[in-house]
Amino acid sequence: MSLAEITARIHLAEDHTGRRTGAAQLIAVSKVQPNDRVEAVLKEGHRLFGENKVQEAAGKWPAFRETYPDVHVHLLGPLQTNKARQAMEIFEAIHSLDRPKLAKTIARLAEELGHCPNLFIQVNTGEEDQKAGVLPADADAFIAECRALKLPIVGLMCIPPAEEEPSLHFALLRKIAQRNDIKGLSMGMSGDFERAVALGATHVRVGSAIFGARDYG
Ligand SMILES: *Cc1c(COP(=O)(O)O)cnc(C)c1O
Repeated sequence: MSLAEITARIHLAEDHTGRRTGAAQLIAVSKVQPNDRVEAVLKEGHRLFGENKVQEAAGKWPAFRETYPDVHVHLLGPLQTNKARQAMEIFEAIHSLDRPKLAKTIARLAEELGHCPNLFIQVNTGEEDQKAGVLPADADAFIAECRALKLPIVGLMCIPPAEEEPSLHFALLRKIAQRNDIKGLSMGMSGDFERAVALGATHVRVGSAIFGARDYG
């Protein structure tokens, strides 16, 4: 699918559910993609990207930022505490805040650096052992803890289990956000972004549908 086609589909899903055009932002997930594919999307005028790894983003985006200084890059993948400083220096937002130790580290670094990226708390809505994220039952307390640390919590994020209907997970994430008065919802990927938009996503994270399949070889 082209970038224009995906954008049109997002707008249609917004329209169908009575949401304003542009209510859901498209994060183009450029992890593992070759630079020429990323550059093609930049040349089309797109400016919001997502990466999974600090190291990979650090190797890729400084050069692109010289040509496209208004680009925004969000971290979507898990963040190790010892990479928090570097992540805070290169990303405009982090979608994977999921534990007290990381929250405390980011709060300390924010004071030292004088700035902090926007933060999304990842919720493990499917309660999967192998997946990052705070459990749904622990979400309210963790949100409160992050707010007590004065962290800029702008949203919640989830990655539904591969085998389940994602809408149930999107609805659960929205419910947790609503009762905590959180506006941002980072949910929806290539296979389900329209369903996510219909359920209130403010950020959809779409990779392969834009760039083509990732070649991990
Ligand atoms: C890779 C990834 C995406 C994009 O997945 P696609 O299926 O290629 O759209 C979205 N979110 C996260 C957290 C990812 O790791």
